[in-house]
Amino acid sequence: MRGQALDFLDSNKECSDWLNSGGGNAHQLLSDVPILLQPTSDGSSVGGSTSGKPGSPIFVASGGGFYAAGGGSVGGFAAGTYGARMTILFHELSHQLNIPGFVNDGGLDTAAANRSLANTQLLLQHCIF
Ligand SMILES: [Zn+2]
Repeated sequence: MRGQALDFLDSNKECSDWLNSGGGNAHQLLSDVPILLQPTSDGSSVGGSTSGKPGSPIFVASGGGFYAAGGGSVGGFAAGTYGARMTILFHELSHQLNIPGFVNDGGLDTAAANRSLANTQLLLQHCIF
């Protein structure tokens, strides 16, 4: 998955430029960032998470949209598909890149969920998976 994501980044200048617009280096970060599985029950509304600190682990929820068993959709992509996986991975990566307009969406309340959706929509405006 990391290889696919790096290939995507290297061949999509608009996405790459946007990810780097906060002064970070998305390719370097994506090359090095730990991507770890976080056990959750199926149907988790959270697909992934990160502290937001550059280089800190990106956690992928075992029961979230990264996997088909998570159900539902991510950014309009069915759970477990390439699009859903890329959306989750790049959403979490974006939290580490200080991108203008990509806000902190931590928390489990409705407002946090809405901020997360807005972040994903912003990502999908620049990165077409
Ligand atoms: Zn988020």
